Amino acid sequence: MADATIQLSALTGIWRPVYAHRLALHATADTVVLAAWRKDTHGISLGPAVAAWRQAVGESTDTQRQHRRQAAAAAVLVVLAARSWRRTRRALATAAQRAHRAGWAAGHHLVTQDHDDDTPYDTPGSQYVLGAPDMPDDTADATATAVLTAALKTTANRAGRAMADSTNDPQQDAEDALEAGLDLALAADVAVSAAYGAGMLAAYLADADAAVQWLTAGDERVCETCLSNEAAGPYSLLGAPTLPAHPRCRCCLAPA
Ligand SMILES: [Zn+2]
Repeated sequence: MADATIQLSALTGIWRPVYAHRLALHATADTVVLAAWRKDTHGISLGPAVAAWRQAVGESTDTQRQHRRQAAAAAVLVVLAARSWRRTRRALATAAQRAHRAGWAAGHHLVTQDHDDDTPYDTPGSQYVLGAPDMPDDTADATATAVLTAALKTTANRAGRAMADSTNDPQQDAEDALEAGLDLALAADVAVSAAYGAGMLAAYLADADAAVQWLTAGDERVCETCLSNEAAGPYSLLGAPTLPAHPRCRCCLAPA
């Protein structure tokens, strides 16, 4: 049976190996995706974006700040959308597939082991069937594309803001914001959590478990959405809210 709320600050029993795996998973994905992003953004020039932006807003100073930022973001997005982001896309897809397997292993462990048991466990091998540990390649690619598309948009907004608000060198400030990859770190987090949650559900499906509970991390940082997800459970396997409720969500779906 699931115990309500996990208590991340004082993990006991089965939650110890489960969250150790999960933290390592997120850390690795973060590193790998950001490394790919740095390679993909290397040598990128936002000069054309600055030129397009200047043409769109003109040199007049009475233009609304919000309008100037939006025009800059749109100009940056044109440059970003023209690139393939091959490495970043690949890194996100791989991170999602790893996370799916990790989620499956955690879910399988939660179903089959006593919850007081804190011994480590491995991730098994398998094939692409319903309830299997592996996320199919096309699902991983679709996940990577969706997450990347959203992240490019927020990155364009961030770089556009840096460009429009720059007091010195709009191009350099925008390129710095681009290369920092803050939105990609969040994107990696979301991709990993979503795949992890899907992997958990696949494990429960494979074990024919009927219901799941949404468990929060049990500290003061838990948000209202996650608290109400926990309060509204247990759920049927297909009726449960999907992880993550938001970026950096630490919640978990456990057998109810
Ligand atoms: Zn949460």
